Amino acid sequence: MTAIRTTCAYCGVGCGIAARVTGPRRIEVAGNPDHPANHGRLCSKGTWLSETTGLEGRLLHPMIGEERAEWDEALDLVAQRMRTAVAEHGPDSVAFYVSGQLLTEDYYVANKLLKGFVGTANIDTNSRLCMASAVAAHNRAFGEDVVPCSYEDLDRADLILLVGSNTAWCHPVIWQRIEQAREQHGTKLVVIDPRRTETAERADLHVPVAPDGDVALFNALLAAMRDRGMLDADYMAKHCEQPGGFIDGLDVAAHGLDPDIFASLCDLVADHPNMVSLFSQGANQSVCGADKGNAIINLHLATGRINRAGSGPFSMTGQPNAMGGREVGGLANMLACHLGFEDDERAAVAAFWNAPNLSSGPGSKAVEMFRAVHQGRIKFLWVMGTNPAVSMPDAGFVREALARCETLVVSEVIAETDTAKLAGIRLPALGWGEKDGTVTNSERRVSRQRALLPAPGEARADWRIMCDVAHRLGHGAAFAFDHPADIFAEYAAMTRLSVDQGRLLDLTDWAGCSPAEYDAMEPFRWGGEHPTAGRFAFADGKARIVAVQPAAPPAVDPDFPLRLNTGRYRDQWHTMTRTGLSPKLSIHRREPLVEIAPADAARFALEDGGFAQVSTPWGQAVYRVAVTDGQRAGEIFVPMHWTDLTGSGRTGRLMHPAVDPVSGQPGFKNVAAMVAPV
Ligand code: SF4
Repeated sequence: MTAIRTTCAYCGVGCGIAARVTGPRRIEVAGNPDHPANHGRLCSKGTWLSETTGLEGRLLHPMIGEERAEWDEALDLVAQRMRTAVAEHGPDSVAFYVSGQLLTEDYYVANKLLKGFVGTANIDTNSRLCMASAVAAHNRAFGEDVVPCSYEDLDRADLILLVGSNTAWCHPVIWQRIEQAREQHGTKLVVIDPRRTETAERADLHVPVAPDGDVALFNALLAAMRDRGMLDADYMAKHCEQPGGFIDGLDVAAHGLDPDIFASLCDLVADHPNMVSLFSQGANQSVCGADKGNAIINLHLATGRINRAGSGPFSMTGQPNAMGGREVGGLANMLACHLGFEDDERAAVAAFWNAPNLSSGPGSKAVEMFRAVHQGRIKFLWVMGTNPAVSMPDAGFVREALARCETLVVSEVIAETDTAKLAGIRLPALGWGEKDGTVTNSERRVSRQRALLPAPGEARADWRIMCDVAHRLGHGAAFAFDHPADIFAEYAAMTRLSVDQGRLLDLTDWAGCSPAEYDAMEPFRWGGEHPTAGRFAFADGKARIVAVQPAAPPAVDPDFPLRLNTGRYRDQWHTMTRTGLSPKLSIHRREPLVEIAPADAARFALEDGGFAQVSTPWGQAVYRVAVTDGQRAGEIFVPMHWTDLTGSGRTGRLMHPAVDPVSGQPGFKNVAAMVAPV
């Protein structure tokens, strides 16, 4: 039995897998020792992918309402509804909400169809919920959404700062790599997180930052480095622009931390010039997430800790292909291939695609998109591979919006997700292990996902479904793709436009690749180890130190005196549509818990093991109580995974829809809340 080399379905670490088919719908999974992202390691989620390839709950046939339909009938209806919406209400009445679970080829076709041929940029992705703030910070600092680090930097750093990341649970193979560096190299580890997570417990220093206190902390750290004479004036003069006086004017004291902890942090940073700052959802999922990203990047730019081995600000992506989606343009505020909506960039894209109807400007970002659906401005919504009825903030409102949408199409693997249950048209899509394409991980490494199993029922690849609709809309020539290799070859050729505009995204070596070359693709990383080492993507080649100021803390609401934080469990993924199938993955946490400090449990009459209702101004949900001193008094934590279908703990219903004004990313980490015994 030959192993088929593919890539994990879950997080942005992008681990290589060697899988063997052992029977009908049965596989064995092992880490691929030759994949540079993981060198054979896997976490529990990757290992137990073997328990998730059965057909339980699968959507196997196109459905119109509750009736099984033929593919032609369903696709004709999708095309007709799209055409009618555009004719009667204009292109902006159409929207796609897509997913970091899609492959780059799917994303490319979705983006091309909507932005180039339907004529609207109303395509956004669930990556908006996890990565948009890092994207905005990169764009503001580097002139392009480019990650300046690679995984090798973790092996070479003397100090790693983990910012807003429970890495041991959420990116376990990166965690194993960090642990190895600590053992072999003596690397120091600092965890900056309001919670004392498992990751924080194992750090050399835990910095219990206040919720959304990261900008104040990093500004103070930058000021402290200035006061200790640790800034790199030469590097800044050659490679950075900074607003006059920003660093000079920073206040070293304005961060609210225990002075001893802050002094220890400053000592560690001052003593270890090879420093990587890994940041994740605790930084991004915030109403000031873009500023947090820039505060972190500022420290690296001002101390010259970037573009060399073992140094740099490193954003870890959440999903397997959040990065690939960003590259091709799957965010509503980008056009394609890291290009925007400036006249010359639009003209280049229109010419490349021979697009008759290129969108003129940005479309609606996720939260705005569902608001437009609720208001009836968006009449046709196509959701692919994601479950916004659960995962969006203010999920009750989003569910209402979906229920009232004139045409809701859902392409899915699972027949009855909370979102699919509301759809008028359901289209069966291929899932992990059945589809072929590419994904890009956190360090810009492109890897193949390969099919292991035959397509179940009548399921089809997402790109194929969209091409079939494009044909029906009269755009067949532009969507005459027969193989994912054809799409990748076109996308790679299109990155020539990015290069011509001075951007760093460059896959032109793969332009026009054949299916055989594509099938033989080994994982490769665009931009090398440090893509910004030669120059940054701004026209002058310099980075920008962005002046960012801490947001004022929110006013305390006596009815909701606690701050609610959310996150992941180690062995679950998103809304559990896949991981929920695995008995092994259910063992770690069998139910959703509200974690609360002993003092708060006493204050609100909660008992460990009892039940509590968590309320916010947006909704209520019930959780089992876990009293823990890992939680600071005044703050509580709940997981994100459980849904209306899986029972209690429906966290999306508690979340406010407030977003970062720069990135449009919702703030899932700092919501006013109250608890009461049930
Ligand atoms: Fe999959 Fe992420 Fe685990 Fe690697 S670390 S096996 S990519 S879930």
